[in-house]
Amino acid sequence: MLVMVLSSCVLVLLMPGLCLSAPTLMPDVTSSPSAEPRGDLKLATEYLQQYFNLKKEPMGRMKRSGASFTSKLKEMQTFFGLNTSGALDSDTLKLMSSPRCGVPDVEEYSHIHGTRWNKNVITYSIGTYTRDLPRNTVDSLIDSAFSVWAQASGLTFVRSHTHNADIMVKFVTYEHGDLYPFDGPRGTLAHAFGPGMGVGGDTHFDDDEDWTAGETGFDLFAVAAHEFGHALGLKHSRNPKSLMYPTYKSPRPANILSSEDVANINALYGPVRDRADPLSRYGWSSRLLPRLMKNTCELDLTFDAVSTLGDATFFFRGRYLWIKHNEQYDVKEGPITNFMPKIETSIDAAFWVPRRSTAYLIYESMFWTVRGSLVRGKPRPLSHFGFPAWVQDVDAAVHIVKTGRTLFFMHDIYWSFNENRRVMDFGYPKYISEDFPGVNTTINAAVHKEGFLYFFVGPEVYKYDYTQKHVVGVEKANSWLGC
Ligand code: ZN
Ligand code: ZN
Repeated sequence: MLVMVLSSCVLVLLMPGLCLSAPTLMPDVTSSPSAEPRGDLKLATEYLQQYFNLKKEPMGRMKRSGASFTSKLKEMQTFFGLNTSGALDSDTLKLMSSPRCGVPDVEEYSHIHGTRWNKNVITYSIGTYTRDLPRNTVDSLIDSAFSVWAQASGLTFVRSHTHNADIMVKFVTYEHGDLYPFDGPRGTLAHAFGPGMGVGGDTHFDDDEDWTAGETGFDLFAVAAHEFGHALGLKHSRNPKSLMYPTYKSPRPANILSSEDVANINALYGPVRDRADPLSRYGWSSRLLPRLMKNTCELDLTFDAVSTLGDATFFFRGRYLWIKHNEQYDVKEGPITNFMPKIETSIDAAFWVPRRSTAYLIYESMFWTVRGSLVRGKPRPLSHFGFPAWVQDVDAAVHIVKTGRTLFFMHDIYWSFNENRRVMDFGYPKYISEDFPGVNTTINAAVHKEGFLYFFVGPEVYKYDYTQKHVVGVEKANSWLGC
C-alpha cells in the first residue's frame, strides 16, 4: 500500500513558474501525425508536463511527434522500467493512469532544492482533517507515518498545535492556495514540499480521495509516510520496492522502507545511532545495552511506560526494563525478556490494579496480564477494555485506586475505564488538556503514587495533583532511577 507521491511538488513551489501552474491545454490534434487516440495523447502530455518537466508548446499546441515529447516519454518509460519504445503502449498508459504522488519524478529540480532540515527535531501540525476517518484515527496514522522515518534515522518528530510548525498537514481539494491544484478522485493523491521556510515541508492530501486506515480506498498511513519522505528532502525512487516510488501500491509490504529509503534518509540526517538519546535504539538492538547503560544518568532518559508492580516500580524503554524496589536504592535492569521471557516487544503503556495484584502491559493493540512476576497466558486484544476499533495503541495508562478507574491516554485524548464494572465510562474520550490543565502534550507514561499522578513527558515528569487539578512540580525522569 505504498504511495507513490508526485515528486515534483517540492521543487516547483520553490521555483514558481517552473511547473504546472497553467491550466492544461488541449492537444492540437491536427499537428499530431500519430494514430494515438486524442484522449491518450492528452493524458500523456499532461502527465509528462506534470511529472517530467515536458515544456508546454507555444500557443498550447501539443505535438506528439515533437522530439521533446518522445524524449520525455522515453525518460518516463526508463524511470519506471518500462519498454523504452517512445510509443504510448498499453503498459505506459496504464502507468500514467495509476494513482500517484503529485511530486514530479524529474531529478533536476530535486538537485537544485534537494535540501534538508538543519535540525533533527522537526515539528508538525495537522491543520485540517478529512471526514473520511475519525480525527483521532487521522492523528494516529499521521503519527505512525512520521514514526516510519524516526525509527530509521536520527530524526524526532514533535506534534505542535500551532500554525507555525515545520510540517503543516492539510486535507484539501482542487485549488488550495499553492500552484498545484488537486484533480478530484484518483490521479494525484497528495503532494509535499521539500524542507524550507513557509510552505517548505507542508504536506497536502487530496480530500476527494477515499482515505482509510488500510482496508479499502487509499491507505492514509502509507501515502503520508511517502509524502513525509518528500517533506524531509527525499526524491522519487525508481525502485518499486521503495516507499519513495511515485505510484500507489497496495497492499503495503511488511517492511515499508526499502534499504534504499533507509540509506537515503540516513544520508540526509544520519543513522539511528547518531540520536541524542542512544537509548532509543533499544527497540532495535539490545546488544549495545550494557555499554550504554552506564550512562543512564547522563542521558535525557525517557520512558515508554512506567508502572508499579507489587512493591517495585517498573520502567520500560524500548525492549529494556529497569526495576526499582521501593525500599532499595539499587536498580535491576536488563532486556525485558530477562525478566519476562514471553515479552519480546517494547511496552507502550502499563498499569497496576492492586486489589487484583495484577499488572497490565500494553503493546500496540494487545496486552499481557502479569501476576507476581509471571506473565499469564497469551496477549489479549486491547478491545477487551471497550475501545472502539480504531484505537490500535495507547501512549500511557494509569490506575487510580481511589476512584477505581484506569485512565488510558492517547495523543491529546483519554478514556476512563471503570475497573469495578469493567466498562468504559460514558462520555469518553475527552481532551486531556481540558481535564488536566497544564498537561497539553502527548504523555509517554503515567503512574500513580502516594496520592499524586506522575506524567512522563520526554525527559521530564510532571507531578500532578488530581484533586486540585494542577501541576505541582516537574522533575527529571531519570531521577526516579536514583540519578
Ligand atoms: Zn512522491
Ligand atoms: Zn498543495
